[in-house]
Amino acid sequence: MVRKVSPKQPPRRRTSVPTVLHAPLLADIPWLVHAFSTRAGGVSSFVNSQFAHELNLGNVAWDSTRNVDENRRRFRVALGAADLRLVVLRQIHSDLIRHVDSEIPTTGDALITDKAGYLLSIIAADCLPILIADSKQRVIAAVHCGWRGTARRLAEKVVGRMRMFFNSQPQHLRAAIGPGIRRCCYRIGSDVEEEFRSQFTYASKVLTSRSDPPSPLREKYPRLFITYKSPEFKTFHEPDEETRQIYLDLVLANVTQLVDAGLPRNQIYSEAPCTSCHPELFFSHRRDAGRTGRMMGSIGIKNK
Ligand SMILES: [Zn+2]
Repeated sequence: MVRKVSPKQPPRRRTSVPTVLHAPLLADIPWLVHAFSTRAGGVSSFVNSQFAHELNLGNVAWDSTRNVDENRRRFRVALGAADLRLVVLRQIHSDLIRHVDSEIPTTGDALITDKAGYLLSIIAADCLPILIADSKQRVIAAVHCGWRGTARRLAEKVVGRMRMFFNSQPQHLRAAIGPGIRRCCYRIGSDVEEEFRSQFTYASKVLTSRSDPPSPLREKYPRLFITYKSPEFKTFHEPDEETRQIYLDLVLANVTQLVDAGLPRNQIYSEAPCTSCHPELFFSHRRDAGRTGRMMGSIGIKNK
């Protein structure tokens, strides 16, 4: 029997081995394991998806617990952490920082430990997973930074916590910001914009304004578009409330916080790709309108 394959949309073949990304800054610390997952190399599949072998690592309505468990197992094997205990929080977009020792916390948005044997993991699909390692004191952290965590200065607070509890010196810290939605795609509303403008002196650096491209209809018949919001004396090419778009640079905001906390800029990796721009590599909550999978950023101290 010959199977027909549509020439328009051939299914993309993928290996069953997860593709994981490493940050060069963390890769040469011998006692450390770390990685950021991509969507490739799992056992899950979406209805109507052009992709197969999805590595969904989060509990979402469309996937089974069995698939997620198998995907998580494959991910841990791929990053050489099969013997580490996976620690995942119920993330609530807070500034709650939880320590991992003999007790495993359940809720919060940042994990810290100096103990070997735990794989601290952040679940994300646009929010930034940030991994931090103290190369001298052997302390690690995993941080979940969406706009709320960033507005609450979570990354900065985690560095403060590492200093207070583990005597970490910021010049010995290395941080890697994983794949997330970047300024090219992260359009925000006026509420988020106001939150950032009121919180940060550097808000103008992390917020950019763009306007919709001028439409031919608008150009030809500008008077059709006069509304109460756009009085006649207004220049028609000036962005008005309806066409003004604000984009947030979450990566730069978190780099700024880490630098403010004392990390040298060259010890912060911030070049990971945009999740929304790369459907072949990443899940994106925004791009896929919520119907998507979840990825992980994970860091652990190896067992001796
Ligand atoms: Zn993008």
